Amino acid sequence: MNRREFLKKVYDFLVMSYLGSLITFEELDALEKSINKPTIVWLHAQSCDGCSTSLLEGEIPFEDILFKFANIAFHPTIMAATGEEALKQLIEAKDVGDFILVVEGGIPVAMPHACIFGDRFITDWIIDLAKKADVVIAAGTCSSFTGICAMDGMYTGDVSLKRFLRDNNIETPVVNLPTCPMKPHHFLYVFFYFLKTKKLPPLDKENRPKEIFGETVHDRCIYYHDYQEKIFAKKIGDRGCLFKLGCQGPVTYNDCEKSSFRYDKYNCIKSGHPCIGCGSENFPRKIMFKRYDDEREIKKYKDFKRIL
Ligand code: SF4
Ligand code: SF4
Repeated sequence: MNRREFLKKVYDFLVMSYLGSLITFEELDALEKSINKPTIVWLHAQSCDGCSTSLLEGEIPFEDILFKFANIAFHPTIMAATGEEALKQLIEAKDVGDFILVVEGGIPVAMPHACIFGDRFITDWIIDLAKKADVVIAAGTCSSFTGICAMDGMYTGDVSLKRFLRDNNIETPVVNLPTCPMKPHHFLYVFFYFLKTKKLPPLDKENRPKEIFGETVHDRCIYYHDYQEKIFAKKIGDRGCLFKLGCQGPVTYNDCEKSSFRYDKYNCIKSGHPCIGCGSENFPRKIMFKRYDDEREIKKYKDFKRIL
């Protein structure tokens, strides 16, 4: 793929992810040529690497995007350096500052030795690096809201990145990109927005970009008409709205029905599966498919926290 084809592919992806208004092709071209590329330091806290994998296994070569539009100082999965050489990058970033810090995974405050780089706990690295970063991106639901890392039976005492920074009096701006795993275009949206404006996009009270998380999955669902007409599926595979199968779309803010993985062809509901609310602050619920029978239940449901 030559340079122009590559840029066109990136631009097409942004347009298909409804992010075309963010940046013009000419601006994308200029950013790629720029010699002042932002530095990214990407840490894995308590994570399964799913958010990185989702990004790197995307339908366009995200690895190339990261390398062409940014200077990747540290990313455990894709950096070439190892051992002392890799740690040097972290120490240099900590000393110099001026970078985007991305943290994937929950922060294991009760068991910080669960994640160690070199001879330091992840918690110590995050404190030092977040103080010097321009912005901090919480990649995925675990980092944004603790997610799977804080479900019943976990002993690591995870907190979200936002709470961890607040508890350590760090005021660097944070953006949350929940979804399990993080969606590639969510990261690109924040990344290109920051590249273009040197600011974070408008955020909601949960520090999520309003452009992406402003509506529920339900608001844009292909079955919304069926929902209104009370045409409900009785089992997976039936035609109709998945509400009675426990769909969490009505209480989950995300753009899944507006833009999906793999060029809008697939997502949970289009594949016939109810939304399990993986981008929600209440994920994972004890009962994953809470069934509710009428709209009054939704209001009640919104008030529950992890106890269903
Ligand atoms: S399938 Fe889920 S998100 Fe779609 S209309 Fe039904 S309840 Fe709403
Ligand atoms: S539809 Fe629901 S479960 Fe599926 S990706 Fe979106 S938020 Fe997650």
